[in-house]
Amino acid sequence: MPVPDEGAAAPRPLTALTEEEKLFQATVRKFAREEIRPHVREMDEAGVFRKDLLEQLFAMGLMAIEIPEEYGGQGGTFFQAILAVEELSAVEPSAGVIADVQNTICNNAILRWADAAQKARYLPRLAENTVASYALSEAGAGSDAFALAARAEDRGDHFALNGRKLWISNAAEAGLFLVFANANPAAGYKGITAFLVEREFPGLQVGKKEDKLGVRASSTCELILDNCRVPRENVLGKIGHGYRIAMESLNEGRIAIGAQMVGLARAALEHATAYAKERKQFGQAIAGFQAVQFDLAKMATEVEAARLLVYNAARLRDAGMPFVIEAAMAKYYASEIAERVASKAVEIHGGVGVTKDYPVEKLYRDAKIGRIYEGTSNIQLLTIAKKLLGK
Ligand SMILES: Cc1cc2nc3c(=O)[nH]c(=O)nc-3n(C[C@H](O)[C@H](O)[C@H](O)COP(=O)(O)OP(=O)(O)OC[C@H]3O[C@@H](n4cnc5c(N)ncnc54)[C@H](O)[C@@H]3O)c2cc1C
Repeated sequence: MPVPDEGAAAPRPLTALTEEEKLFQATVRKFAREEIRPHVREMDEAGVFRKDLLEQLFAMGLMAIEIPEEYGGQGGTFFQAILAVEELSAVEPSAGVIADVQNTICNNAILRWADAAQKARYLPRLAENTVASYALSEAGAGSDAFALAARAEDRGDHFALNGRKLWISNAAEAGLFLVFANANPAAGYKGITAFLVEREFPGLQVGKKEDKLGVRASSTCELILDNCRVPRENVLGKIGHGYRIAMESLNEGRIAIGAQMVGLARAALEHATAYAKERKQFGQAIAGFQAVQFDLAKMATEVEAARLLVYNAARLRDAGMPFVIEAAMAKYYASEIAERVASKAVEIHGGVGVTKDYPVEKLYRDAKIGRIYEGTSNIQLLTIAKKLLGK
């Protein structure tokens, strides 16, 4: 989509970073490589993200990138959150999804929709040590995300929430849940309401944790709401505005999933390139074969194209310009190429590529989820097509 000339500064290359962004990127990259990388295999096998690493993510401000400094956050930009997700995901895509859900979905929903008292109560906690989860999906409400069965019954000073949420990322560690339930089923999706639910609220229980193919170190759990008592002051935004809150949050979160997939694909390409230079067959490095060179060249082109889509969507969002279609394109394309690039990286490794001794095996498994969560590829295509067709 052409971007109107805002008449401000001269256009810059999309991948050109400011000095602050470069420093930020280098800091996250160093942290990911030095602190997270040694534990990637162990966390994948255990299906658990180490508590000490989570604490370090908080200590570095990576769980509160856009939260203003007055609340203990970094006062950074959405683009910085995108850079962080990319860098974390280049080492451990599970760390990428933890940062995605916290920063680009939950923190941002609270920054945009919470009242002053809610901001004062929750933002400092989210900046210090509280993990947040986003609880929209249910067994019967996946792509049809607003077909919620969860109900919120108005009881005056509080709401009673009942239902079961499924697939809730970070739920094992979370202290705060952004829960969507219908407070007025007769009004259909216009009854959907968002609630800030603390883990300790009576009637909330974190259920079964999924044993997954990829992003195994990021917890994905069921959430059971059994007459969960949520004070009235914990309604986020207005009653019946949950649909809008959910959509706006997901539109931003999708850009971060694009960044997660760019980081993952970049890592797969780097591993494949290094291996191709090292592995010898027929008396030479396999990187000497033109077929392998062309594979690497195609992979590099796809990673770059995906990064441009992701960075552009993020820059549009920071500029306050429309970005929904660009976010859908970024998420769609980045997740498609991540799977393809990771698959090629496995092939370039030959037999060792399917063993756990080489990181591409895990990246290939981790890539699959990109086309599913925060809206499947088909749902992104629907969003793009609707805009194209003016629906
Ligand atoms: C690891 C993981 C983490 C997750 N984290 C969260 C989270 O933190 N919070 C949360 O709320 N949810 C989360 N989810 C849920 C996720 O967003 C959903 O799984 C996703 O939206 C797809 O829904 P579904 O699984 O019900 O698939 P379905 O909606 O049943 O889709 C099945 C297939 O049908 C296709 N399909 C469905 N409708 C259409 C249509 N209209 N046109 C064309 N094709 C269609 C889909 O593209 C897909 O291929 C997570 C899921 C996973 C697996």
